Amino acid sequence: MTATCAILPSSLGDTGTLRRGACPSIAAPMRTGDGLLVRLRPAATALTVQDLLALAYLARAHGNGLVEITARGNLQLRGLTETSVPPLAAGLAAAGIVPQRGVAIEVPPLAGIDPTELADAAPIADALRAALADAALSLAPKLAVVVDGGGVLSLADMVADIRLDTVAGTQGLAWRLSVGGDRVTARPVALLPRERVVEGVMATAAALAAIGPAARGRDLDPAVLAAALGADPAPPLAAVAPAHPLGAHRIGTETVLGLAPAYGQIHADRLAALVHALAGCGATEFRLAPHHTLLVRGLSTETLAAAEAAAMREHVWSTREAPGRTVSVCTGSAGCASASFDTHAAADALVAEAGDLLDGSFDVHVSGCPKGCAHPAAAAVTLCGTAAGVGLVLGGRAGDAAAAILPAGALAPALARLGTLLRARRADGETVGGLIDRTAPDTLASAYQGRQ
Ligand code: SF4
Repeated sequence: MTATCAILPSSLGDTGTLRRGACPSIAAPMRTGDGLLVRLRPAATALTVQDLLALAYLARAHGNGLVEITARGNLQLRGLTETSVPPLAAGLAAAGIVPQRGVAIEVPPLAGIDPTELADAAPIADALRAALADAALSLAPKLAVVVDGGGVLSLADMVADIRLDTVAGTQGLAWRLSVGGDRVTARPVALLPRERVVEGVMATAAALAAIGPAARGRDLDPAVLAAALGADPAPPLAAVAPAHPLGAHRIGTETVLGLAPAYGQIHADRLAALVHALAGCGATEFRLAPHHTLLVRGLSTETLAAAEAAAMREHVWSTREAPGRTVSVCTGSAGCASASFDTHAAADALVAEAGDLLDGSFDVHVSGCPKGCAHPAAAAVTLCGTAAGVGLVLGGRAGDAAAAILPAGALAPALARLGTLLRARRADGETVGGLIDRTAPDTLASAYQGRQ
């Protein structure tokens, strides 16, 4: 098939895959424990029922059927092979699903339909995509641009190399250009009128390219950029707290429901069943959103409960209160050859035995092996698969030494014992994170192993 050559560039080397840490697009999939992984963000802001059914079909036909929504609202298809990526790309093209290419440019998921936003960021994002494609600069593969027009689901808390935040001033709307951070932490460069924002971002991108192909926003000097643009440095912006996309939102006159696959992952068969059920509830449009979320439009107040019930049937969360939301979980044995146990079943057992203790005050990580894909940093509590069983790692990374190890089959009662111990020791008003901090690791390890 001629499309194959265009899809897999020769620059990828012998394996045709990327190193870890690069950006696994369909042109450059990444090798993981369960085969090749492709990350894609459809160019269209909204997906239809047919689009999602096509994605489910393609994930099952060409991968291992696992579909993920990432923390930044990208789609990931897993378990692909060198020979299955080209037909996947052809299938996407046939379905009319065009993946974004080049620099990731993100806008609030409700851009253009949220009456509370200050400005629709989508047209600016489109203009930037065109300008960046024309310029063909050599930029870091993971470079991210955020264009935030505000609104209920603004991207104020999303870190980017280059940001544009709309600001209402006495002269009308302007856009603050900043680099290397979120709305609050990014370093301000300049306040620009709408007609200069593309120029401002392109000057910033050119400055990055001049530093080198690995340069990121943090490497830039805002004062130098401001001088080059002939603009005064812009002031810092006040923090705003965007809503979490999960759950039901009243947007103007419509109800938008945010759904998140449990632990960020859903099998294609369940995705197709969910989409059919949601279509039966009136769903017409879907938008990918941060925090592993899929926004559903077209529901009514009458069909909302049925849509939420359909989500629950397919192991999809529709509320921020879902206790498993605080647990980072990798693919596990359902789709990764490196995993020594079923991480999703373990996370479910954790929620069943100690869900009341998952108060968000500490990180919990369930990892199929010491690689720790789902949470590379240290976590307060990690359950990590090893050749000897499931290790309990306290205050460390998945690959750190375990305080105790048990066979996977003994995990549920071990988690129940840990839950009993923590409930008995918890002081009034104490966070569970604080409680774990002040509890001796040996005490936790003994409860895990049933030595108490
Ligand atoms: S951490 Fe999980 S997904 Fe990553 S290689 Fe290990 S088992 Fe596979």
